[in-house]
Formats: sequence, C-alpha cells, structure tokens
Amino acid sequence: VSGASPQEFRETVRSHTDIVGLIGEAIGLQARYGGREFVGLCPFHDDHNPSLRVYPDRQTFRCWSCKTGGDCFTFIMEREKVSFPEALEILARRANLEIPRKLTGRSPEQESNRAKLFEVLLWAENEFHRALLQSPEAEPARAYLAERGFTDEMIRQFRLGFHPDDWQWLLHRSAGRYPAKLLLDARLVGEKNGRTYDYFVNRVLFPIHNERGQAVSFGGRILPGSTDGAKYWNGPESVVFHKSRLLYAIDKARDAVRTSEQVLIVEGYTDCIACHQHGVGNAVATLGTALTDAHVTAIKRFARQVVLIFDGDQAGQDAANGSVERFLAQDVDLRILTLPDDMDPADYLATHGADAFRQLTAAAPEAWEFRFRSARVRYGMESIDGRQRILDEMLQVLAQVPGMSGSMRENLLIANLAQRMNVAEDTVRSRLKEIRSQRSSSRPIPREAVTSGENRDSQPVPESPYRAPAARLFHRGLSRDDRLECDLLENLLSAPEYLRFVMEAATFAPLRNPALHAVLMACFDEGEESGTLTLGGLLNRIEDRDLKSLVVWLDEQARAKGLAEKMRGRDAENSENPGDCPLLLKHSIDNLSWRSEESTQEQIALKLSQPTDGSPAAEESTLDEATRQLLEQAARFHQRRAAKTM
Ligand SMILES: [Zn+2]
Repeated sequence: VSGASPQEFRETVRSHTDIVGLIGEAIGLQARYGGREFVGLCPFHDDHNPSLRVYPDRQTFRCWSCKTGGDCFTFIMEREKVSFPEALEILARRANLEIPRKLTGRSPEQESNRAKLFEVLLWAENEFHRALLQSPEAEPARAYLAERGFTDEMIRQFRLGFHPDDWQWLLHRSAGRYPAKLLLDARLVGEKNGRTYDYFVNRVLFPIHNERGQAVSFGGRILPGSTDGAKYWNGPESVVFHKSRLLYAIDKARDAVRTSEQVLIVEGYTDCIACHQHGVGNAVATLGTALTDAHVTAIKRFARQVVLIFDGDQAGQDAANGSVERFLAQDVDLRILTLPDDMDPADYLATHGADAFRQLTAAAPEAWEFRFRSARVRYGMESIDGRQRILDEMLQVLAQVPGMSGSMRENLLIANLAQRMNVAEDTVRSRLKEIRSQRSSSRPIPREAVTSGENRDSQPVPESPYRAPAARLFHRGLSRDDRLECDLLENLLSAPEYLRFVMEAATFAPLRNPALHAVLMACFDEGEESGTLTLGGLLNRIEDRDLKSLVVWLDEQARAKGLAEKMRGRDAENSENPGDCPLLLKHSIDNLSWRSEESTQEQIALKLSQPTDGSPAAEESTLDEATRQLLEQAARFHQRRAAKTM
C-alpha cells in the first residue's frame, strides 16, 4: 500500500469500506426492496421521517430532503466536518490500512507512537473507572459523586474514575505491560530527579475525549475535605491532547449540537455532566482554560449559535464580560447567559428542571447586548457622564476586536450603538477612530495562534465554489440550459462506455453551469487516465463534496428514469452498428452542439450590429479576422440547420 499512488490508495480505502456498514453504525438503517436500498434518519438535518437513502450497489447515499449526498468519503466529511484528506485518513484507520506518510505528514514511527498513546490512555481510563466502581478506597469518591446527584448511568457513560492515594499505583499496574516512557509520553505520569510518579493521585477523574471519542487526558478533582493542591487539575498537553481547542464532552454532544444547531458551553465538568443527565445533550465544557479562538473555530463547524453559560457570581459576570471581544469578530451567533441567584448550571437544573433551563438559554441575550446591559447597569443612562462612559466602554470593546475595522459587522454595531445612545453615527465613528489610534500607539494587540502544525484537525473546511451552482439545481428546478446539460450527464453516467463520443463532440463545452461542467471534466479526466469511466472511479476522483453530491444526484435521476435500460433496449432495436452511440446520448450531444452554434449566431448578430471603432461604414473588406470566422461558422450553421429540418 505504501508505494501506491494517491488515486490507488483512495480506491483501496473505498473498496475496504462498505457504505451500508459505515452509515448503519452511525444512524441505523433499514433495508427496502430486498436490500437494494437502505433508509435511515438523516444526520444532516432535523429528520423525522427517514429521508436518507443508501444504495449498496452504487456505494452512495443521498438525503431527499436536505440534498446531502455522496460516497463514503462525503459521509465522513459531512459528519465529522473534516476535509477530504482527513476523511480519507479516518476511513483508512477504520479499515486498518497503513496510511502513506505523505497523507498524514507523520512518519510510520510517529503514527505507531500515536496509536500506542491512545492505547495506554484507554487502558488507564479502564483502570481508573474500575477503581471507582470497585475499590474500597474509592468510597469517598463514590460518596462525593452521589452527593452531587450523578446517576450510575452518567458515571458509566462519562467513564468517570478514581486514582487511589498512591504515587506508584498506575506505574505498578502498568509494569510488564507498558514501558514507563510511554506513560510519560501520554502524560499519565511525571518525572522528577530521575524518579517517575503518578499524576492524578487521590482524585476523582473525568476522562477527556477527543472528537472521535478517544481518551486523550484526564481532569482530576480533589475529594471534599482534602487540601491537597488545586480543586481541579488537568493533565498536561501531549502529542494527542491540546487544551486550547478541545472541549469536554464534544464527542457526546456532537449529534445534539448538530440537530439543535446550538451549543451550550459551561464552565466545569460536573455542570456539563449534569446537563446531559437532565437531557440537555448539547452541552460541553472548557478544560479549565478560557475559551479561545480555536475553540470557537472548531465549534462553528457544528453549530450556528453558541451560548456561553456562566455562574451567577461575580467571577462568572467578569468572565462573561471578558469573553465578548474574543467572539465579536467571529461570524457566529454568540449568546451569553449568566444564571440567576448565584447558581451554577447543576444547581439550576436540580432546582428548576431542564425545561426552565432551556427557556433561559433560548432567551439568552446576544453578546453585544449582554455587554451593553452590563455597562448600563454600572453607569446608568440618566446622566450625561454615564452615557459618555457607556459609549466609551462599548467602543473600547469594538476597538479590541482584531480585523473588525470597516467590516459589515462593525457598521451594524455602530448603527445599533448610535441609535440606543441617541447620538449621530458619525459621532460614534469618529470617537471609535480616536480610541483605535490611542490603542495602537500604546500597545500592539496580541493575536492568539488559532492552529499549530500538530493540530491539523482544526482547520476549517473551505466553502466549495460549486455549492451555489449545485444547490440551484437541487432546489430551484431546472432552466432549459440546466435540463440540456443534466440530460447529457445523466445519459453519460447511464452509458459510460460511450464516453469517447462525448469527448469527440466536446466543442459544445464549456457547460454553462460551472458545477455540471466540473463533473463533465472529471468524467473526461477519469476516462483518459484510467481507460474506463465508472461511477466509483468518478466519485473517487472528485474531492469536492458538492460535486460528489451532484454526481450522486445525477446518477439517481438517471436510474429513476431507467436510462441505462432504455439505451440498451433501443440500441438493440434501432442501431445498425452495435458500436454506435446510443440515441439518447446522441440527442443530448446534438442538443448541446446546436445550443452552442445558436449562441455563435447571436454573437455574430451582435457583432454586426455594432459599428467597428467609429469608422464610417463596416465594409466586408475591412472586417477583422474574428468576424470573418464567425460568418463562416454562421454559413455552416445554416446549412446544417436546413439539412436537419428536412
Ligand atoms: Zn438530510
């Protein structure tokens, strides 16, 4: 495998992945028509009737409602919100295939090192979990969790654990199984003066999982009454653990976040678990750090709306105020909720229940609004001095946001502010300018690094240039041009062995819909490079998910119309030469050829109706070469049209 070309590697991964198994694992599927088709609840929109169809013979899927569709790679790209290379890597791992180094940028050693880290972390998670459930020493930990109201189900689901009061407990257990160096690399143990010792000693443990549900580290909480260090302690960062991006419980919250398009971010593990226990499944927590840009970038892929939930105490209020600047520049609907009566989310849920909690989150004010209210409470709107302070504070907030100057968002916020303070927009704008120049002369604005090289998973997936042209076909119905172009591709996909007829007649290209044109070009490339055109080969070649979705849609249309059967049947009856292009395909090609000649005609008419650069008369002798060619084409066109209509 390692010596294979990227194209061959894709083919290998695809052939080792059964799409029914893959999608079935994620959403559950039911067979129809004797297993020729499977249906399930679409995970890409809020689906109540099974809209997702999976076609085992084509190895494709498509949702009839939200129009998401493609192959196994598309499914992973959409579900995990990752790029094509990452989807390829995920499926290769799932199939236990060795991944070529050029794909991951990691050497085989690094690759196997990562696998070992995940293995030892999973082992430790199991050891800690078993200790919590069974060890007599864990009695205070069990009592603590019971007192917090955690059910056994939550303890099992979140794999909570306990590390007994022994600095060698894990090291002893790992002896003969894992080398101490591996435990060090996994940051399960530390080293001091040449001696290794366990981290997390005598703490209740909250395993931290990455987006794929693999344990990457642990958060440890001291037992009540203990004064042994900080209340919470998280494992240090490692090759597989990056605090600045990961959110606690993101693996469990992901589906709920996706369907609600909303994510709730709370401050602690226990609050997060309390949310899940009360059925508020779209809650995650930060890992003892403030929210970073990288967090927001990662979460934006799943949710449109982010609600930051802070405790009702002063520290919560301050944290809420401080978080606004960070998010204003990000294109995300940020809401801020501080809970009443100094409560934390767990208290609130226990007292008022999940429905009341959901109502609060639904009514949470926008970040900007929240900040404004907070300033208004502090300074008051009655005095001129108070209003001046509010205005200045809000403009300070704006001035701190990087990349905001002159943006549409800034304009909206300025207009909002001017209206509420009842001052002219120009006044607000010039005051903001003053504040900006004061700031830039005093200190540079630090900008946090959003991604590091190690952290490649977090790169946002760029918007496809084919999204709009493809969506137009799915949602708006087809124009005459679209119809002609779709017909061609549907016919071609139904009779791919006749690709060469399309290629020979390809003077009709480019197709007017850029997405359809890109599909046609991919068909040509696939035919030229691999010798034959197949649906699998075509999907394999295309990385763009909107194009993939389009190919699956075209294939579906073609099958619904029974084009392949029609072409085979008619060929047998009508064709004198068995090798001839099937009539349906030939008609498609002809229609596009006529269209392209018609448009040449229009160009000629246009050209002739315009006088050439101011000269008194456009004599035939002075016509330029291009026009002469157009006229010749026109003559041929008329001849052919006459022949056709006879
Ligand atoms: Zn759907």
